[in-house]
Amino acid sequence: MSNKLTIIGAGPAGMTAALFAARGGAQVTLIDGNPMVGRKLLVTGAGRANLTNREVNASRYTCADLAWLERVFARFGFVELTAFLESIGVLTYCTHDGWCYPLSESAQTVVDAFAAALNEAGVRLLLDHKVTSIRNNASGFEIGFKTQRPHTCGNLLVAAGGSAYPTLGSRGQLFPILQSLGHTVIPPRPALAPLTCDMTPWQALQGVRLDANVRLYEGSQLLAETTGNLIFTAWGLNGPAVMDLSHHVSARPGDDLRLELNPLFASEDALRALLREKRGSPTPLAVLLGAVLPPKVPPLVLKMAGFAPDMLCNQLSDKALPYLFALLTALPFTVTGTRGFEFCQVSAGGVPVNEVDALNMRSLKVPNLLLAGETLDVVGPCGGYNLHFAFATGAIAGSGE
Ligand SMILES: Cc1cc2nc3c(=O)[nH]c(=O)nc-3n(C[C@H](O)[C@H](O)[C@H](O)COP(=O)(O)OP(=O)(O)OC[C@H]3O[C@@H](n4cnc5c(N)ncnc54)[C@H](O)[C@@H]3O)c2cc1C
Repeated sequence: MSNKLTIIGAGPAGMTAALFAARGGAQVTLIDGNPMVGRKLLVTGAGRANLTNREVNASRYTCADLAWLERVFARFGFVELTAFLESIGVLTYCTHDGWCYPLSESAQTVVDAFAAALNEAGVRLLLDHKVTSIRNNASGFEIGFKTQRPHTCGNLLVAAGGSAYPTLGSRGQLFPILQSLGHTVIPPRPALAPLTCDMTPWQALQGVRLDANVRLYEGSQLLAETTGNLIFTAWGLNGPAVMDLSHHVSARPGDDLRLELNPLFASEDALRALLREKRGSPTPLAVLLGAVLPPKVPPLVLKMAGFAPDMLCNQLSDKALPYLFALLTALPFTVTGTRGFEFCQVSAGGVPVNEVDALNMRSLKVPNLLLAGETLDVVGPCGGYNLHFAFATGAIAGSGE
């Protein structure tokens, strides 16, 4: 890469690229429509920033070419990212299941560290600059803004995010422009979004949180399966377990989709053993189920199964037992959709990875154009995977090979 780089998007991908390029000696201009850098990063992980995951690897992602993604992570995996974060003053730790956070437990300190590092590296910031056009000509690119004078550059990295959570700055505005430059754009759709469901039978569980295995079906066909935490709301289900399924839902608007929740995925054997022990006793069945389920769940499930709310263990017939377990391990929900771009964490769709070189993030369609982050058609599950992808592709783009 020549020694000048202009970047559109001061999110995790753009800021990381800027730092790698500037540290490599390039003169870097970083443009963003927001008045500050890292606006979305600030709200990630509910303000704690789940930055990456110890288990990061291509197989966890939805991507049309996993070999492409493997090349990215071989170059910039967990070790490389945590070392880079440390180099800008962000120390990290992992939870027992591998989710990685700043030691400060604060996304604000991460954004502050990036801002300080960009300043220290001499990156020129053009904030409050909303890009409305990109034209390419023989000498490079001319970037047009809503209000300011155009900016010209030879090398351009577009790291402008996707269409998720538009109030934070990324609205997919640059997708039509990338298309006009020669790229394919797969229409963006919500991913990592809460799911809307017919909650009529489940209203009593509003606010209840539990861990479950969740299976998504289209008719009788199993589309996908996850295990994790979820919360019941008035309009549907929220939390990582269902958000990780949402890109399948947004890909099939109006289809016959349903979920089966198994909250006994880890405790069914223990519950069966307890039930064997108490089978002849006058222990209320709801109390027994309460050994493995939140207190609001047993009364509702007993009602749905057609059992009396005060039914005792010694009243449970041999015929009723399999029926009860069949219901408890496959609580049924009719899915009506996702909560849309306004409430999703990332968008699926964007530029397909086969139009970008995994070695350096250079466009294979437009000379001197690079692409990184959520602008590309890659979606990871909850757990730090999406920030990792943004940081990794930004680092590779900024390394200038
Ligand atoms: C509420 C929420 C919580 C999340 N939590 C996590 C989490 O804990 N862990 C995780 O891994 N992921 C999380 N994510 C996802 C993560 O934030 C994204 O994957 C990541 O921000 C993508 O980085 P990016 O740099 O590609 O894009 P962005 O962060 O979207 O940055 C793109 C930048 O480009 C700028 N831009 C866009 N268009 C223009 C334009 N026309 N002109 C000028 N500038 C423009 C935007 O203002 C923005 O600053 C969360 C997302 C949300 C919404």
